[in-house]
Amino acid sequence: MIRLTPVQIGEEKQSSMSLFCKKCNSRRLPKWVKEKNETDWLCETCGNYVDSKNNIVGQYTK
Ligand SMILES: [Zn+2]
Repeated sequence: MIRLTPVQIGEEKQSSMSLFCKKCNSRRLPKWVKEKNETDWLCETCGNYVDSKNNIVGQYTK
């Protein structure tokens, strides 16, 4: 018998998202990358980009 609690489901959803920065918990901004046909996610506080799988793919320089 499978039992799922709402807490477990919520945690699973959050960890699979790139929307929030793991380091500082700030909300990331979506940046469309034409060449890759993908959306990267920028954390303005840490200055890094992650892809849709939450892998760091670049560093933002001002
Ligand atoms: Zn951050």
